Amino acid sequence: MAILKKSNKIKEPDKYPENTQGDFYVKNQACIACGAPESVAPDLIEHSKKEYGHCYFKKQPQTQDEINRAIEAIAVSCISGLRYGGKDEKILKRLYEIGEAEQCDHKPIGIYKMSI
Ligand code: SF4
Repeated sequence: MAILKKSNKIKEPDKYPENTQGDFYVKNQACIACGAPESVAPDLIEHSKKEYGHCYFKKQPQTQDEINRAIEAIAVSCISGLRYGGKDEKILKRLYEIGEAEQCDHKPIGIYKMSI
């Protein structure tokens, strides 16, 4: 008898093709060009010049400051177009604690509750 292993991963949404390869991304066709994420992370996020200003991650965050701003960009996304597809427990914890669990492709190992 086969044992079904419970997956910790939800179905991953389509990524907008101009996103750089990496854990932070913007969903495909999920943009109304609000500009809010770019305003908090202009070095990481840009609006497409090809397609009605669809926003995307032009650079993946590397430093702690950049990671903080990528998380903030997810938090200010007006229509929840930005997502985190990685498994870094610290980043997942922060996203869960600020109420952005729905924006994560993976569940954290720990149990975190919204703290704001
Ligand atoms: S948050 Fe959503 S609507 Fe706003 S710029 Fe980004 S993808 Fe577009």
